[in-house]
Amino acid sequence: MSANCLFCKIFSGEIPSKKVFENEVVIGFHDIHPQAKHHLLFIHKNHTKDITEMASDADALSDVFSAIASFTKAKNLDEAGFRVVTNMGRHGGQTVFHTHFHVLAGEPLGPFGTYKSL
Ligand code: 5GP
Ligand code: ZN
Repeated sequence: MSANCLFCKIFSGEIPSKKVFENEVVIGFHDIHPQAKHHLLFIHKNHTKDITEMASDADALSDVFSAIASFTKAKNLDEAGFRVVTNMGRHGGQTVFHTHFHVLAGEPLGPFGTYKSL
């Protein structure tokens, strides 16, 4: 747990969230500002600031992606499909510095990104 980290506090329950998934090391909860019909955030108990820091923890990555796979399968979101996004740094648009994975689902999500090639 990292002091003053919003998502560590959500993991511990100090800050409330609407949980959709929970085991000993991972929680999934509703994003407070949804960007799709279903917009969940999945986080690991072990605090890392972003995906570059989490990258060396294969177990933690597996824990999170297994949780996402279980949750989406249980909710039948895997049939139509979904999108997993992790933002990193300034250009990535990261605003909370505890690694998290957005799961967007429930409707066609449209094109990815904003780059327009000519
Ligand atoms: P980022 O911009 O870092 O990729 O994503 C951070 C996400 O956390 C945003 O989508 C934002 O809406 C969400 N968020 C920020 N504060 C809270 C909060 O207190 N509770 C919940 N559930 N989501 C939050
Ligand atoms: Zn944290």
